[in-house]
Amino acid sequence: MLIADEIIGLFAAKGNSQYGEDVTQLEHALQCAQHARNESAPDELVVAALLHDIGHLVTDLPEDAADHGIDDRHEEMGVRYLRQHFPETITEPVRLHVEAKRYLCATVSGYLDGLSDASRKSLELQGGVMNADEVTQFESNPHYAAAVRLRGWDDRAKDPELHPADLDAYRDLLGQVAIG
Ligand code: FE
Repeated sequence: MLIADEIIGLFAAKGNSQYGEDVTQLEHALQCAQHARNESAPDELVVAALLHDIGHLVTDLPEDAADHGIDDRHEEMGVRYLRQHFPETITEPVRLHVEAKRYLCATVSGYLDGLSDASRKSLELQGGVMNADEVTQFESNPHYAAAVRLRGWDDRAKDPELHPADLDAYRDLLGQVAIG
């Protein structure tokens, strides 16, 4: 099966589950990708935005895992899946998008206070605010800036009033950026 069809099928099968903050997984993904497009991000980063939470769709962990004290490691599950089909310019920002939250909490004043309750709850499970060594280490990754951009869109992709382009608008793009 073509990867674009496979991903569209995954969202069709599981994308209507709640992201947990007034939007579904599919709506969250589409809004995130739309923000990336609106800021003229490179194609790979638009796709990373679209697929950053795909780990939630390829695992069977409950959506509210954090409420039960479980760090679902969804970024790792997502990357394991995506690596089979996409380059590092996509998989690294996805892998780092949770770390980017920890990074932004440490480096941008007010960022932590602006997080939703759910996001603040999961932050603790994800390791909390980065310390200085972790910040330096994070900035040494060549994809860290892309991950930070993705995180900004992710944070704004929870708006029940937004009506972004639908998934089919990404079919060709998914095929173009896929490897193999
Ligand atoms: Fe997200």
